[in-house]
Amino acid sequence: MSNQIIDRAQKESRSLLTEIESKKLLKAAGINVVETKLAASQDEAVSIATELGFPIVLKIASTDIIHKSDAGGVKVGLKTAKQVAKAYDDIMKSVRQKAPQAKVQGVAVQKMARPGVEVIIGMSKDAQFGPMIMFGLGGIFVELLKDVAFRITPLEKRDAAEMIREIKGYPLLTGFRGQEAADISKLEDMILKISDFVEKHPEIKELDLNPVFAYKDGAVAVDARVILEDSKS
Ligand code: ADP
Ligand code: MG
Repeated sequence: MSNQIIDRAQKESRSLLTEIESKKLLKAAGINVVETKLAASQDEAVSIATELGFPIVLKIASTDIIHKSDAGGVKVGLKTAKQVAKAYDDIMKSVRQKAPQAKVQGVAVQKMARPGVEVIIGMSKDAQFGPMIMFGLGGIFVELLKDVAFRITPLEKRDAAEMIREIKGYPLLTGFRGQEAADISKLEDMILKISDFVEKHPEIKELDLNPVFAYKDGAVAVDARVILEDSKS
């Protein structure tokens, strides 16, 4: 299954896997992701939303768009079929404006996950050391404060445990000021699974689970992006 998705992208000479493709790969690797389905039309978006149950999140599904929010391509907290239909139109309109060249496959329909502590797990390749796993807290912690930890693959359980604990924001994962604490062992497990997954797939150049919502009893990736190495064809 994993190979089918990767093969297809390589045949089409594209390096960006869509969120839907990326989540399929990760799910097959045992990583918990928000169930996400492709809708190719507005009617289909509404019927999938109704089947999944509200509240719903709609996102642009395009093999040409890396940052979906920047293109006005993400609508969260949709509570009715009517809101889903309108969000579909709004997304298409905004994307046509902001990314007129983008090929659009439709929208990704998914359940709105309940809020948790936002973390990021990523992989990038160092010219010298190869695949490195990154862990950090979401939002400003990564973007502004660069509060992240790195380890070279393959990771052992101890590496995953250490990298979570060495970020400055670690107290936010242990139930800071009455916030829900995060299930650290589930996060360790997710980091290790990502390490195994990228070891098995050297054709992956970059990977981002951004964000993952961490809860007291688990964690789920609400967004995922896989970028492949340029295929040599
Ligand atoms: P982008 O391509 O811009 O990174 P994301 O898929 O990360 O798009 O969506 C942007 C934001 O919307 C996320 O950071 C998250 O806060 C929220 N979000 C996305 N998907 C969900 C979801 N299924 N449930 C709850 N919130 C979500
Ligand atoms: Mg994201």
